[in-house]
Amino acid sequence: MSKNIESLIRPNIAALCPYSTARDEYQGNIGIFLDANESPYENGWNRYPDPHQKQLKSIISGIRGVPADNIFLGNGSDEAIDLIFRIFCIPGKDKALAISPSYGMYEVCAATNDVALEKVPLRKDFSLDTEALMDKAGANVKVIFLCSPNNPSGNAFPKEQLLEIAGRFDGIVVVDEAYIDYSSIPSLINDAVSEEYGNIIVLQTMSKARGMAALRLGMAFSSKRIISLMSMVKYPYNISKATQEIAAGILKRDISAQVKETIDERKRVARALEGIGCVRTVWPSEANFILVEVDDANERYGQLIEAGVIVRNRTKVAGCHNCLRISIGTKEENDRMLAILSGNEASFESSGRSAEICRKTRETDIRIRVNLDRNPQSPGGFGRVDTGLKFFDHMLDQIVHHGGISLDIRCMGDLEVDEHHTIEDVGLALGEAILKALGDKRGIGRYGFALPMDESRAIVLLDFGGRPELVWDVEFTREYVGDVPTEMFGHFFRSLSTAMKANLYVQARGENNHHIAESIFKAFARSIRQAVAMNAFEGELPSSKGIL
Ligand SMILES: *Cc1c(COP(=O)(O)O)cnc(C)c1O
Repeated sequence: MSKNIESLIRPNIAALCPYSTARDEYQGNIGIFLDANESPYENGWNRYPDPHQKQLKSIISGIRGVPADNIFLGNGSDEAIDLIFRIFCIPGKDKALAISPSYGMYEVCAATNDVALEKVPLRKDFSLDTEALMDKAGANVKVIFLCSPNNPSGNAFPKEQLLEIAGRFDGIVVVDEAYIDYSSIPSLINDAVSEEYGNIIVLQTMSKARGMAALRLGMAFSSKRIISLMSMVKYPYNISKATQEIAAGILKRDISAQVKETIDERKRVARALEGIGCVRTVWPSEANFILVEVDDANERYGQLIEAGVIVRNRTKVAGCHNCLRISIGTKEENDRMLAILSGNEASFESSGRSAEICRKTRETDIRIRVNLDRNPQSPGGFGRVDTGLKFFDHMLDQIVHHGGISLDIRCMGDLEVDEHHTIEDVGLALGEAILKALGDKRGIGRYGFALPMDESRAIVLLDFGGRPELVWDVEFTREYVGDVPTEMFGHFFRSLSTAMKANLYVQARGENNHHIAESIFKAFARSIRQAVAMNAFEGELPSSKGIL
């Protein structure tokens, strides 16, 4: 039995005569276009985009198996949510209903449209009480928002339950399926487009499994009548040409392997979380995140932040006291998060010869901690390096692994300008930190030298003698290794030698530029290990001058 939608539509919307674009009136592709006041000078973007997104809709129609006339595309799902309020809810009079806890945008859109949003609490286990919902679905309630799988709880509601609600309710039932690709519970998309119900709107998005959050592209699937209302009320050119073209390209890729990997990781992470001491409850998830109840959400959140891992603290949300919402990342990212929560993350020990340097300029914001003495807890040295340059991080990691020293390097630099300031300033700050950690240099080896062999070879000679000097005899044959310009390696070691007042002689040759760089950093790490080693002179100053 199909619902009577007409009586639900706001009178001003029912009477609306939509803006007709130049592209609506003439639909051909060839000709001389003097109809839209565009610039005639071609630059790829000077013409208005297709207001109906025909090509993109036909691709989505193929993927989802529903006719293009049953598809609305918006600037994120958020546009669709806003339009639903504007089409069906008279401000200051009509109401909407949502479950709690759920997605925050329903409330924000309700408030901006001056529509009261009532909330029906989910049960303690986040299941949905149909009768409690229907009890509140009285007169003036025009729309019910259901989110399945639900954000932030992660559970999906049985399809029969959602259809029962759609059958019993005379208004619009929105089912937000942002996470449906990760769910084992089937979508309501076919019920939304069929004439059987007529009051279901299914929302999906390109922002999650499809990996296009930056493009802002949301989808609504519903009856032709509801889709035509949404298309009429939207801004004519709501989806840019860039978005339409890029999305069409990305939609050609098969995401099934990625989705499967995320689901497998979700299962692995859930099991691992259950074994961690501070974890109280791991809520079952049909999405790409897990809601986790911990002993103290604020403390665990802070602990993760301190280690550079950002999750969502939901402790203030109804029904989510002491809960963190954790997105499933790559295996490495998830392992990092698990190690920190389980307390297995080695921490930076500041006993021994250690120093911290914070250095903030207009170009870079750097915090470096150095410990020259090996920590018995992590004899390989504690290492955390994040400069925003992956290859540079990889090189600095060599200093930890082969130098036997602990480093905690974090730099936020103006990489949008270029790599220069980041690399040079990290060199200066690292040099300063090492010099400071060396203290009066009593008892150190002072000199270091090494000659490791890959297919490349590097010689690094080092003297903490107080005189900064760099001899750089290195030949790279490429402009870049990874994301680092090869010319910057010389700059890095010059900054370092200046700031740590050390004489550095660096010579390297090889075929592979990656190996040349790596062998320099390894050789440098080995020589610093020798030079900072204690007891070489049993507390004497290794200098005939009495000062270094
Ligand atoms: C992430 C999310 C969306 C997606 O919003 P977009 O505006 O399409 O990025 C929609 N609904 C829920 C419940 C979400 O969590």
